[in-house]
Amino acid sequence: MSKILKRHEVDEVTTWDVTSLFKDETLFEAELVSVVDDVETVLQYKGKLHEDAEHLFGAIKTLETLQERLVRLSTYAMLQISADGTNPIHQANAAKVSASFADIAGKLAFFEPEILAIDETTIHHYLEEEQQLQPYKKMLKDILAKKPYTLLPEVEEVLASLSDVLDAPYMIYERSKSSDMTFNSFVDVLGNTRPMSEALYEDEYEMATRSNVRKLAYDRFVETFDRYKNTYAATYATEVQKQVTLAKVRGYDSVIDMLLHGQQVTKTMYENQLNIIQEELAPHMRRLAKLKEKIYQLDKIRFCDLKATIDPDFEPTISFEEAEKNIIAALEPLGIEYSAIMKKAFSDRWIDYASNVGKQSGAFCASPYGAHPYILLTWTGNARGMFTLAHELGHAGHFYLANEHQTLFNTEPSTYFVEAPSTMNELLLAEHLMKQTDDPRMKRWIISALLDTYYHNFVTHLLEGAFQQRVYTLAEEGVPLTADVLCEEKEAVIRNFWGDTVELDKGVGLTWMRQPHYYMGLYPYTYSAGLTVATAQLQKMKRNEDDAIHRWLEVLRAGGTKKPVDLINMLEIDMTTTVPIKEAVAYVGKLIDELEKSFAP
Ligand SMILES: [Zn+2]
Repeated sequence: MSKILKRHEVDEVTTWDVTSLFKDETLFEAELVSVVDDVETVLQYKGKLHEDAEHLFGAIKTLETLQERLVRLSTYAMLQISADGTNPIHQANAAKVSASFADIAGKLAFFEPEILAIDETTIHHYLEEEQQLQPYKKMLKDILAKKPYTLLPEVEEVLASLSDVLDAPYMIYERSKSSDMTFNSFVDVLGNTRPMSEALYEDEYEMATRSNVRKLAYDRFVETFDRYKNTYAATYATEVQKQVTLAKVRGYDSVIDMLLHGQQVTKTMYENQLNIIQEELAPHMRRLAKLKEKIYQLDKIRFCDLKATIDPDFEPTISFEEAEKNIIAALEPLGIEYSAIMKKAFSDRWIDYASNVGKQSGAFCASPYGAHPYILLTWTGNARGMFTLAHELGHAGHFYLANEHQTLFNTEPSTYFVEAPSTMNELLLAEHLMKQTDDPRMKRWIISALLDTYYHNFVTHLLEGAFQQRVYTLAEEGVPLTADVLCEEKEAVIRNFWGDTVELDKGVGLTWMRQPHYYMGLYPYTYSAGLTVATAQLQKMKRNEDDAIHRWLEVLRAGGTKKPVDLINMLEIDMTTTVPIKEAVAYVGKLIDELEKSFAP
């Protein structure tokens, strides 16, 4: 592989088109200035929200309009910094947005407390009186549910004005990772010097077919993490301490209670995901590890071998254009409207798939209201990348529909559901590819790709969730979160899952540093919840159950109008029981059975 390009050297067609947000820098800057002035339009309602239904509606609507503009500004700055974090203009824009937003947040902090000061009966009365308030019923109810945990207005105002300081740990982590953290190259057994980055490690070396490449790359990977561990531990500990303190002053029983409240998920639902998957999936995954150990003729499978591709001599590569064709065909069952959105994603440059210096690793989708979604990933030509792309397009399709059908304040569902539409598209892609081929090796590859999806959501992120659970508990017990403590906990979680099936080295503990999700509350476990829903829903679609596809699209359009349990109930899936989780785990077990059979002599 040649050296990594600078951003200005990459082909424009491989980058996203940010001009649909702002035609140029000047317009972005002008809008940032003008939005700061227009905060006044909301401030004119200060102290008047309680007066009557008309004022309440006017205030909400004005705030929502302002928010739409803020979303466009913050998305623009965020997209730029994620495409090239080394560009000083991008850094300056991000800093400007962050500073202005903190100021705006402080000014707008009166909003919720003022609504909270209105008694519930009056709010119900206003809802009946003013029909235009109806779309905001859930939002008002959600605000009222926070009543017991809200502080005095002036305290909330101070906290809001400190928002960029309170969000600093995440910003520091991201900035360090994209701009400062560099990895040394390594020399493989053939004498080739191989470049190294987090994206290359995750998309290429971790799945490498040569055991020594996996090991050499892994050693370089953890060697770099080791150099940063104390800084990152301090950064993460600050984030956790912030949450512990906030939970305490707001009167929640624990940090976890506070974070679940925001997700509208019960503790039982949260614990079911973590406990059932750790207990019931571990035996299946250990079988998969054993199978890989045999395939690669290893004395003992190591942690750095776990993601090795299942068939070392069969690793399909694919062009971006071929991937596009497959994905479009795979998603056709979701109907004309959905397909049209997917086609637009490619033709209108929603996707940034270039590889360049300063680009954020991993993949994400941002869906600013009033504009189209944006997808970031790094295309390496590995066919597995096709699943990542289908995944992000799942987010794009979801929020495109939600944005189109809901008012801004109603677009965002709980993170508990967010990964369902994305993983659904991965499952549909596997279904489609399976139908396209009679080649047993290709079929085997598809099963292994599907297992990668389950691994990602049910193992990697789930164990991160289990790690988080331990970290919060320790923090609340007053244990200082040093690098050593974090490494020990991470290793313990991994050891608990793999038992002695997998050889674990010291570097394993450092892998907590890989995840930005720790700065987003209880995000990691929700991946497993989303995939659990998608697995159950796909079976319904395959059985051609009444209206299964229609219901699915209805749920996507519903955005954030319902609590996650109610949203998922629209699909006739009950997440308050353990049934869907157990079924999804059993399904993974069956995939591993098939894989074992395919290798049987
Ligand atoms: Zn996702």
